[in-house]
Amino acid sequence: MENVKRTEISSIGEFGLIDRLTSNNLLLNTSSIKGIGDDAAVIKSEKHQVVTTDILVEGIHFDLVYTPLKHLGYKSVVVNLSDVYAMNALPKQILVSIAISNRFSVEAIEEIYDGIKLACEKYGVDLIGGDTTASNKGLIINVVAIGEQDIEKIVYRNKAKEGDILCVSGDLGGAYMGLTMLQREKQVYLNAPTADIKLEGNDYIVGRQLKPEARKDIIEYFAQENVVPTSMIDVSDGLSSELLHICRQSNVGCQLNEVEVPIANETYDKALEFHIDPINCALSGGEDYELLFTIDKKDLLKAQQHPDISIIGEILDVNLGVKLFTKGGNYHDIISLGWDGLKDEA
Ligand code: ADP
Ligand code: MG
Repeated sequence: MENVKRTEISSIGEFGLIDRLTSNNLLLNTSSIKGIGDDAAVIKSEKHQVVTTDILVEGIHFDLVYTPLKHLGYKSVVVNLSDVYAMNALPKQILVSIAISNRFSVEAIEEIYDGIKLACEKYGVDLIGGDTTASNKGLIINVVAIGEQDIEKIVYRNKAKEGDILCVSGDLGGAYMGLTMLQREKQVYLNAPTADIKLEGNDYIVGRQLKPEARKDIIEYFAQENVVPTSMIDVSDGLSSELLHICRQSNVGCQLNEVEVPIANETYDKALEFHIDPINCALSGGEDYELLFTIDKKDLLKAQQHPDISIIGEILDVNLGVKLFTKGGNYHDIISLGWDGLKDEA
């Protein structure tokens, strides 16, 4: 970063900054009537609208020692889009608010916006507004995402029913192992700033942590195949926690089959290297942004036919509890540790 040009935000002011960040901002969606530049944006939708927001705070949700600013911008959008997809809706607009201290140059904020714009392009979403303010110290990014869907296709967490099939997209635990790697290399660096940072060979898991994707493709597959899941949630806090949300809110039990839980080879090997049971990475590691959902039995074949959907269990009567059926043939109660619980084990 040392040789990069540094323009102080104070030299161009708040309006100058907003201008630099939002010039050439195109609106792609017909529902975006008025974007940046007035007191408020205007949108129009024939369908029902789905709205969500997430706030990312430096030192709590991200660490700038190992998070490139462009990735941070990208991820701050993706985590919100993932919540919209988890309602089986399509995101169309976002608003982005930032609080920045004078530690950051105009160029640094532009890097964040490069990531934000890249995510907008990739997912077909319009940036229609936001707010910009000063912060004493840390960086804060808040994104609001707005999506749409027909009311009968919106999917909640609380409609799973006995006999439904439990499915998940992609693979789990990678983002947590990526974070574990990044934190270890940060410690190595802090202890000896000249030491080699060894991230090679960990591209997949590090990418899962720094540049997650939202599963737009899965929502498109549902539309194409005429499938409406009975319940759905995105995996931001770990499989255990998300499964418990679905089961508690739907008042059902569940059997989750350990052998079916998708874990990438790189995640698996790295977990063993860190003396973590790989299944615990999937159960308790967060930030994979995959979709966990239940479908009626009639849709089983359609789920099986998709190469990136795994059938991982079945919804049962509430009295049977929420259980993990292990590789060894035992049943364990699933409890929610979240990734703080995992850290104690590591
Ligand atoms: P107001 O004083 O009415 O809040 P602002 O000067 O904050 O207006 O914002 C002017 C325009 O720029 C508005 O359309 C607002 O949505 C947009 N905007 C402000 N900050 C951001 C930002 N960080 N990202 C995207 N749009 C922004
Ligand atoms: Mg404002």
